[in-house]
Amino acid sequence: MNSTFGLTLALVKPSTLVRPHAVQSIIELIRKENIYIIQRKQTLLSPSCAAEFYREHEGKFFYNRLVTYMTSGPLLAFTLAGNDIVTRWRALMGPTKVYKTQHEVPSSIRGRYGISDTRNATHGSDSSESALTEIKFFFPEFDAEKWFKDHAGCFRMGTNVHFDESKGIHSCSEAA
Ligand code: ADP
Ligand code: MG
Repeated sequence: MNSTFGLTLALVKPSTLVRPHAVQSIIELIRKENIYIIQRKQTLLSPSCAAEFYREHEGKFFYNRLVTYMTSGPLLAFTLAGNDIVTRWRALMGPTKVYKTQHEVPSSIRGRYGISDTRNATHGSDSSESALTEIKFFFPEFDAEKWFKDHAGCFRMGTNVHFDESKGIHSCSEAA
């Protein structure tokens, strides 16, 4: 048991959010995988926020296209928790480039719901460190350090985790 219990940021990108059955099946997949939805927020990014979020890609040929796409409609942001969550969520998404992924990993999220290399369905952080920065970007009020101290153990144990259907998030309370 060497797995690390942690957090990642997942985004359902605008071209996916307009397809309710796609959103539903992504959420079902998350739940089936014993990944926990800690926070959830639907939001519309401003061009300056999208440019900031993807700053590492500034100057690349797809950057302007990417920023335009990410501001083209609302997206859904999730804080996900689980064992080896950064790697596992990226594995469920499949590789970045959809045209290739549609052939090579057709059953992945990007293989199923990606429309183009830019409109590739979902986002996932690429490391635990960037996950914390990215979670802060979408959920500035979230105190990750406090969450790890007060709540991570309960979720890691898993026995008292409950999915709130109306809020669409998991909660965990220690048994009294
Ligand atoms: P990932 O989202 O898998 O971490 P990157 O961080 O490399 O991938 O790229 C960020 C986003 O930029 C991708 O998810 C995709 O929307 C877009 N993108 C990346 N590479 C390309 C490309 N070659 N052509 C078009 N869009 C791209
Ligand atoms: Mg990336």
